[in-house]
Amino acid sequence: MLYRFFDKLDRKSFLHFHIWEFAYRSFFKEYARLFFRKAMLKHPIKTASGLMDYHRFVKSKKNLFPQYQKVLAIPDEETFADQTKKQKKSPLLGLGFCLKPIDPEDSTGSCPSGRANHECIYLEKGETQNICQGCAIYRIAKKSLELRCPVYIMTSAQDIAMDFLLPQIDKKIFPFAILLLCPYSVQAILPSLFICGIDAHLFAYDTGYCKDYKEWRLADLGTKEGRTTLSKESSEKLFELFGSLKNIPEISPQSFNREGNIFYPGE
Ligand code: SF4
Repeated sequence: MLYRFFDKLDRKSFLHFHIWEFAYRSFFKEYARLFFRKAMLKHPIKTASGLMDYHRFVKSKKNLFPQYQKVLAIPDEETFADQTKKQKKSPLLGLGFCLKPIDPEDSTGSCPSGRANHECIYLEKGETQNICQGCAIYRIAKKSLELRCPVYIMTSAQDIAMDFLLPQIDKKIFPFAILLLCPYSVQAILPSLFICGIDAHLFAYDTGYCKDYKEWRLADLGTKEGRTTLSKESSEKLFELFGSLKNIPEISPQSFNREGNIFYPGE
């Protein structure tokens, strides 16, 4: 099978790119056509320079594959911290919908806002149900109010392109991001982040994640049974990172305002 060949090219860091298998699998998919047309063709200089930065990034890292499984900062932790402080801009918090609680046997054990969507009653109305107390999205979103970080529940690659990547490459709306996603997506999204000029911290799930393109694509189309979690170590690192961003806001807002699919802490 050809995808095995492209996977080998990734493993061998052929030309210092790790996107061969994903690019091959994505060739005719709607999200790839959209990104190619509205980001790469529309912004050829940003695309060329982003791909060169991505190439240098891959080249400079030894053993990058295990890092896809944990926490990865681009371009690096120091630059991310310096730039967010310098520009006084809170990063977008992108949280996968698969973090939502799910219990196929008992609806009270599942997210009341549904599964593969951008919705959350806490973000929308400030309301919670019992199940929300144990939900990572609730815990992280509460913190994001203090830090004035916009929150985005990530669903499909096409929506991520429309809501987050294209607004950044067109209008520089989200130059910084903290994203929680599966290790496969970490590897796949890196070139787009470089092309769009986004500095990011990427936290990979420890359990429940999609292990290959087939599972990833099913989740991309809205079918995902398992619930993902971060490891204790990554969770601590995430809250440490929040601690380092603390000087950004002056007064914490109490609720979010929704614009499109993004929830912004109110004034
Ligand atoms: S906090 Fe939001 S995402 Fe989490 S269970 Fe409650 S409604 Fe669902």
